[in-house]
Amino acid sequence: MRSLVAPEPSDSPAEWRRKASEFVDRVVAPAASRIDRDDRVPDEIVARLASEGFFGLGIPAEWGGRGGSARDAVAVLEELARGSAAIAVMVAVHTSVCAVPILEWGTPAQKERYLRPLARGEGVGAFGLTEPGAGSDAAGLRTRYAREANGFVMHGSKMFISNAVSAGVVLVFATRDPALGHRGVSAFIVPPGTGGFSVAQRLDKLGLRGSETTELVLDGVRLPAEALLGPEGDGLKVAFRGLAGGRVGIAACALGVARAAFEEMLANVRAEDAEWKRTQLARAYAAVAASRALVDRAAERKDAGVPYATDASVAKLVASRAAVSIASAGVDVAGPAGVLSGSNAERLLRDARVFPLVEGTTEIQELILARSLLAPESEPTV
Ligand SMILES: Cc1cc2nc3c(=O)[nH]c(=O)nc-3n(C[C@H](O)[C@H](O)[C@H](O)COP(=O)(O)OP(=O)(O)OC[C@H]3O[C@@H](n4cnc5c(N)ncnc54)[C@H](O)[C@@H]3O)c2cc1C
Repeated sequence: MRSLVAPEPSDSPAEWRRKASEFVDRVVAPAASRIDRDDRVPDEIVARLASEGFFGLGIPAEWGGRGGSARDAVAVLEELARGSAAIAVMVAVHTSVCAVPILEWGTPAQKERYLRPLARGEGVGAFGLTEPGAGSDAAGLRTRYAREANGFVMHGSKMFISNAVSAGVVLVFATRDPALGHRGVSAFIVPPGTGGFSVAQRLDKLGLRGSETTELVLDGVRLPAEALLGPEGDGLKVAFRGLAGGRVGIAACALGVARAAFEEMLANVRAEDAEWKRTQLARAYAAVAASRALVDRAAERKDAGVPYATDASVAKLVASRAAVSIASAGVDVAGPAGVLSGSNAERLLRDARVFPLVEGTTEIQELILARSLLAPESEPTV
C-alpha cells in the first residue's frame, strides 16, 4: 500500500506530529464512531498503521523500524488518540511494552525473529502481566513456569490483556515459585500459535472500545529455551522498565483524548456562548496545556537518558485525570446532545474514564511519586 505520510527516522517531533495529524484527519477520525460501535479496529486501518510506519516508532531502522525519539512518539500518540483512543492505545502497547522491551533485552536472534516483524507491523505486540488475582501487586502473580529438558512449560492465566487477539507476540510474565516474590518472575516471548495458549474471552468495555481486552489461558504452554527474555529472575525489571516507558505513551494517549474533548468543547462554545461555558473552556485549555508540558518533560528526560520513571507517573496521573474532567465538562457544555449514544462527547467521556486504570492505576502513580519524593537522596524540585 502506498504511504501518504510515512515518517522518516530523521523527522523532528513537529514533522511526526504533522504527518500523524494528517493521517488522523484522513483515516482515523472518520472511523472513530464505527470503531467504538463495532468494538473493532478494521483490518484495513491496522494495515494502514503498519504501512505508515507507526508500529515501527522507536525501533531503529537496523531492526526494520522507523526510529524516532520519545518526543516523536508522544507527538504521534497524542495525535492518534485525538482521532481514536483505541487506535492510539493499540500502537502504544505494541511499541512501548512489547517491541521496546525486546529491543532492550532481546538477543540478536530474538530481535531478528520477533522484533523485525513487529517493527514492520506484521502482527501487533501484547504485554501479559496482569492476572485475575494480581494487578497492582505484580510480584503476586501466580502463572508458573518450570524448566524442562529443552526449555520451559507454563501454566496459568492472564487478565485484561490488550492486543492479544491479533497479537504477533505476547510478552508473558510467570514465576518459578510464588514464594520467591519478585525474584521468581521471568519474562517470556510467546507467539500466540503456541500449543496450550488460548484467548479465553474477549471483554466488553465501557470505553477504549476497539482496543481488544482479553483473558488468556496458558495451559501447559511449551516454550523453547530461547523464549526467555532477559536473565531468568529479572522478569519484573523487564516489566517495570517497559511500564515506565509505557506510561509516557499512555499519558500522551490521555492527552490526545483531553485535547479532542477540549476541541469539541471549543466548537460547542463558539456555536452557543455562555459565561459558564467560557469558564469550562478556560479550565479545559489550562489542563491540556499542563498535561502537554508534563508529557513532554517525561519524554525529554527519557530521550536524555536520565531517570524519568517518576516524571512518567506524574504525566500519566495528571493527563488521565485531565482527560476525565475535560470530557465530563464537555458533556455538560454539549447539553442533552452530549449524552446521546454516538455523540463525540459521550464517546470521549467513556474513553477518558479508562485511562486512570491502565498501566498502573492513579493510586499506584501516587505511590510511585510519594516514594520518590521521600527517598533519602531526593531533592524534590518543581
Ligand atoms: C482497558 C484495559 C487494558 C489493560 N491492558 C493491560 C495489558 O495489556 N497488559 C496487562 O498486563 N494489564 C493490562 N491491564 C490491567 C491494568 O494494568 C490493571 O487493571 C491495573 O494494573 C490494576 O490492577 P487490578 O485491576 O488487578 O486492580 P488492583 O490491583 O486489585 O487494584 C484495585 C484498586 O485498589 C487500588 N490499589 C491497589 N493497590 C494499592 C495500594 N498499594 N495503595 C493504594 N491503592 C491501591 C488500585 O489503585 C485500584 O483502585 C489493562 C486494564 C484495562 C482496564
